[in-house]
Amino acid sequence: MVRAAARVWPNRAPLLVASPVVTPLLIAVDFDGTITLRDTLHVIVDAHGRRGAWDELQPDLRRGRITVEQAMQQQFRTVTASHDEVAALIRSDAGGREGFTDLVAYAADEGHRLVVMSAGFRSVIDLVLGDLGLGYLEVVANDAVFSGDGCRLVWGQDRGDVCVLCDRRCKRHAIRMRHRGETIVYVGDGISDRCASQMADVVFARDDLAEHLSGRGVAFTPYEDFHDVITGLRLVGAHAGAV
Ligand SMILES: [Mg+2]
Ligand SMILES: [Zn+2]
Repeated sequence: MVRAAARVWPNRAPLLVASPVVTPLLIAVDFDGTITLRDTLHVIVDAHGRRGAWDELQPDLRRGRITVEQAMQQQFRTVTASHDEVAALIRSDAGGREGFTDLVAYAADEGHRLVVMSAGFRSVIDLVLGDLGLGYLEVVANDAVFSGDGCRLVWGQDRGDVCVLCDRRCKRHAIRMRHRGETIVYVGDGISDRCASQMADVVFARDDLAEHLSGRGVAFTPYEDFHDVITGLRLVGAHAGAV
């Protein structure tokens, strides 16, 4: 894991100094490797597709030689497992990052809006969130229909036009569609978070995303779990309230 050298935030301070004292936030949270400890796409392919296939693709993904969507198409062609098999696997192997339910409670208490934004699969996300008692959360995602005969990917309905910055249908569209003038917070870890996180005012990043943002001089706060995120958000509130 890459640790950021500096804890510099907020990303764009002027946006945080506006009144009123209570700053509403739009908190966009990635799912795979963020809410879960392991990326569920990798977990599924390793168990029911070709083991190690994602790892082989990582260099090309990081350099943008293939898109996340192309990698998903390629990898899930090999997956033959029923929904029940996938569900059992996710429950045993994906793991959950500490403190997510606390972040959801914090956001609700403070009147902030929290949306889960994923390039992954709604059926998997619903399963994990349902187990946490958070099945009511707003989720933007693609989906997959699993069966023993093969897996069919179902791309999200409203993914917008191809992004001019990253040349794919990225999460910026989902944020843009939901943004109502709030301060934007992004929490993520991976390649699919790169573009969207750069339109956020406050970014919490780890792993590949942290490395990417560090390389571009984009300010972010590293996190280990969601308690770190809550602590950071409280500081955003204190900062806004102090002005
Ligand atoms: Mg991720
Ligand atoms: Zn983009």
